[in-house]
Amino acid sequence: MEKFKALGLQESLLDAVRDLGFETPSEVQEKAIPILLESETDLVALAQTGTGKTAAFGFPLIQKIDRGSRTTQGLILSPTRELCLQITNEMKLYAKYERSVNVVAIYGGASITEQARQIKRGAQIIVATPGRMKDMINRRLVDIGKIDYCVLDEADEMLNMGFMEDIKDILSNTPNDKSTWLFSATMPKEVATIAKKFMHSPQEITVGAKNSGATTVQHEYYVVGGRDRYPALKRLADTNPDIFSVVFCRTKRDTQKVAEKLIEDGYNAGALHGDLSQNQRDLVMNAFRKKQIQMLVATDVAARGIDVDDITHVINYQLPDEIETYTHRSGRTGRAGKSGISMVIVTRSELRKIKAIEKKIKQEFVAKTIPTGMEICEIQLYHLANKIKDTKINPDVEPYLPAIGDVLAGIDRDELIQKMVSVEFTRFYNYYNKNNDLKSSPAGQEGKKGDFTSSNGAVRYFINVGEKDGYDWMTLKDFIKETAGLGRDDLFKVDVKDSFSFFNTEPEVSDRLMAAFKDLKVAGRFVNVEISSNPGGAGGGRRGGHRDKAKRKGKKHFNDAPKGKRREHSKGAGPHSGKRRSGRKKGNFF
Ligand code: ADP
Ligand code: MG
Repeated sequence: MEKFKALGLQESLLDAVRDLGFETPSEVQEKAIPILLESETDLVALAQTGTGKTAAFGFPLIQKIDRGSRTTQGLILSPTRELCLQITNEMKLYAKYERSVNVVAIYGGASITEQARQIKRGAQIIVATPGRMKDMINRRLVDIGKIDYCVLDEADEMLNMGFMEDIKDILSNTPNDKSTWLFSATMPKEVATIAKKFMHSPQEITVGAKNSGATTVQHEYYVVGGRDRYPALKRLADTNPDIFSVVFCRTKRDTQKVAEKLIEDGYNAGALHGDLSQNQRDLVMNAFRKKQIQMLVATDVAARGIDVDDITHVINYQLPDEIETYTHRSGRTGRAGKSGISMVIVTRSELRKIKAIEKKIKQEFVAKTIPTGMEICEIQLYHLANKIKDTKINPDVEPYLPAIGDVLAGIDRDELIQKMVSVEFTRFYNYYNKNNDLKSSPAGQEGKKGDFTSSNGAVRYFINVGEKDGYDWMTLKDFIKETAGLGRDDLFKVDVKDSFSFFNTEPEVSDRLMAAFKDLKVAGRFVNVEISSNPGGAGGGRRGGHRDKAKRKGKKHFNDAPKGKRREHSKGAGPHSGKRRSGRKKGNFF
């Protein structure tokens, strides 16, 4: 709070900051707010998605406008209706204690007369999409001839979407001596052109490296045959039972098709693309925000409005044409300080694109292998065990217990457990046992059905801590390395799940590692590491599932703590599928 005060924000805004629960300004806020408050200047601010750009221009704008006047003084242009509404909502929260400040949203797909009416009542700040804004200017429903500030938010996305002409048009209706604040995640040529043409010696601030993706994102690619994209996607989802993801496709048609298939296969999925009506899109987005949809299949354009913080995985079902677009996609995860994974499903012939992206984002991809069926079964089994452990008992089962007790009489505890987890396990097992593993490893080795394939003799481990203990793949790696005194490269393929994780080491360090974790207690709780019977992760592993199984026998991981939301694998979709499946139009290609 003190830090926000030091930036020069007035009392009423600090109260709003407090209500929002912001404790320290983000880097872009720290840099931009004082500049914007102290001087009348143009500004170009480059900062990745999720770095708090809205507040960086929103607070100064509210503080600087003349609340005594009802003239429109500030215009914020943003690429999509969703973003426009988000920004408007945020601005209203910022101006919570400034009752005379009116913020009005203008966007397509809603009544233009109603929007015109709101503006007539006095809107010092307008948040608009370029298309509708231009329309309203042409119809003289809005006057931006006296604005002092113009914000171009997500400028790169606006230009990507082809709004260059509209923006030029709109700007030509604004006074020359206004200040223009341009915010963008990246600085492609077009943005530079706008800056040069419409701005007067702007100050520049950059947060993080220019044109680079967020560093909290791990980038992974999976090489598959061209026909295996969909089965690969399914496996990626099955290895991450708590996945909350956006799956990007290139065309509306593919987007619809992939979503439909996922729904048919029992996943909580939904489609988001331009052929859906606004109402349908709103339904899908709401379900996604509430996490009723775990896999949102979307086109790049439709996904532009998505501002959801907890996305765990971005899956590139197909790579985009533009590298810039990849940056936008992967920026949907790893937000608000969380870590995320961006997965790319590629065919061998597309591998050079991976190289090109690596160059651009200055980060290396991890080459991974599509998990084998057995590995998926193992993960699902642990996940189920955890779910049973974490389930809150419903008191209403009480009256039925005596009868249930009768049915299950004579089954001892061990047998009961085995039967219970088999209910779920068998379904996966049967599915994956029937389906050969995908030929997917970049090294060219092929997994076979049910086979514990080994590539380089690495050892795969299970550990009973995961995300809900506050770990992500980076922090868990550090924790294990420190505990076992391992070197930098001894540990790899760390896969963090909700309440457990997997990782690999070379066989040489295995004994040391197991010794270090023997009877290890952290915060009063045993941290349990065991050798996994699956090679797992990305191909590392050892033969000898039997030995490992024997070793594990009698030790079961019915671990820890709460939570455990997860897709129900019932055949057929969840309760929301009806809604999501509506609006199935055979779309055209972009
Ligand atoms: P960007 O426009 O850069 O993508 P947003 O402005 O949408 O990012 O902010 C992303 C998220 O971070 C929002 O949920 C916002 O409320 C939150 N946020 C912004 N600033 C702060 C802050 N200083 N402290 C905590 N959360 C913040
Ligand atoms: Mg933004």
